[in-house]
Amino acid sequence: MFNVKKKTIFMLGLFLIIIFLFLTPVMMLLDLFEENGTKVSIDESYVSNNYPYANDYISVLNKNIRDGNGYVTLSRVVYFLSENKNLTYDEIYTDNLNLDKKQEKPISEVCSMEKYKNYKVCNSLAIKDSNQTDFYTEKPFGKPLNFTSMNVSSFFMQNRSIGVSKVHKAWDFSAPAKTPVYSVCDGVIETVTFPYDKNVKNMLDKNGGNRIKLKCTYNNQVYYVYYMHLYPNSYMVSKGQAVSKGDVLAGVGTTGMSTGNHLHFQVNLNGKEIDGMKLVDFR
Ligand SMILES: [Zn+2]
Repeated sequence: MFNVKKKTIFMLGLFLIIIFLFLTPVMMLLDLFEENGTKVSIDESYVSNNYPYANDYISVLNKNIRDGNGYVTLSRVVYFLSENKNLTYDEIYTDNLNLDKKQEKPISEVCSMEKYKNYKVCNSLAIKDSNQTDFYTEKPFGKPLNFTSMNVSSFFMQNRSIGVSKVHKAWDFSAPAKTPVYSVCDGVIETVTFPYDKNVKNMLDKNGGNRIKLKCTYNNQVYYVYYMHLYPNSYMVSKGQAVSKGDVLAGVGTTGMSTGNHLHFQVNLNGKEIDGMKLVDFR
């Protein structure tokens, strides 16, 4: 009896030691996972419900686009803002810009900066889960107009009203009447439609007033670029004409549904509007 009890205690002790030896590294691994792999979900509605802070973003956009520094997406700005509301738009924009390439830095590059190193949005899983671009991209397009003398009046996916979603799936650049608009690629003019012979608005016109549609082919993909609200009779091209990047197509106007002279710059890929400014080379 005594021996059996001793043996049981010995076996129990051995069992506990084995459990301890096995469990410790497992728990350490779990612990490590908790520390480095905490999933951070970014509230995407903060990007889409951009009405309250659209003006803050526009002012920093204007400065950097006019100066030719490059374009940083709202999604990127919000990504860092979601972690620290005390960061300024200016600060985030500048930190996310590569001034040599004149484009948004890969997210990992920004996160490697000392100040962001301990941010939750900068842990590897958060980056992996995010929709942030983590590489430099080719910029096939030229500028649609001279950026130094324009104002961004609406950015891509800007929500222009509270409540009812009235998202603008293009860019609006306000500029003086007749400001030249340029072909962003070596492409072909698809259509030239100029129904207005006076530079006047028409709030019932949902087609964009005087307009030109340009076809750009890049990497076997077809992009359609729409220039809208153009000045009457300002077109310099005709349907079917081949154009080069930088060629003047027409002048800025305020024809159609418009509240002032501006260029509506819209890019479609596979039937969907995409962010055209992501394709523009600022160098
Ligand atoms: Zn527009």
